[in-house]
Amino acid sequence: MSQRVSQRCTATTNAGAPCKNRTARGTKCWVHLRRDAPHLRVKRSGVHGLGLYTTKRIKKNKKIAVYKGQNLSRAQVNARYPNRDAKYVLCKTKNKCRDARKTTAGVARFANTARGTNKRNNARFAGYTLKTQKNRGIPAGKEILVSYGRLYAV
Ligand SMILES: [Zn+2]
Repeated sequence: MSQRVSQRCTATTNAGAPCKNRTARGTKCWVHLRRDAPHLRVKRSGVHGLGLYTTKRIKKNKKIAVYKGQNLSRAQVNARYPNRDAKYVLCKTKNKCRDARKTTAGVARFANTARGTNKRNNARFAGYTLKTQKNRGIPAGKEILVSYGRLYAV
């Protein structure tokens, strides 16, 4: 990660009060993320930096998470990254992109790509939705690796 962004957990406690924990890896702290996304975990990657892992088996052709971030046009992406070093930009069409750099809104951005390694991608993007492959699920405890393909804006 090139930049650390931290924010207050957006969840409320069982008593109804705002959670006081801070989070650098999502909108919710670990206690609440586990509750809401018990199928996912962010930890050190086998590929690069932090990675996204399954905690239980996810069946084929199922949604894993949504890639959240700031919506930008291609021109806005180019203006923001004149050196083409956007690390967290995903474009679903030629002109519709999403930059997750300045947000901690979602964990999908922690999914690395298998490109350049001897591993295989086991996930894909359908628009901004991170999904398992059409014909293959992901076992529990595996790192989620996704092809950013031509959708990745750099
Ligand atoms: Zn919390």
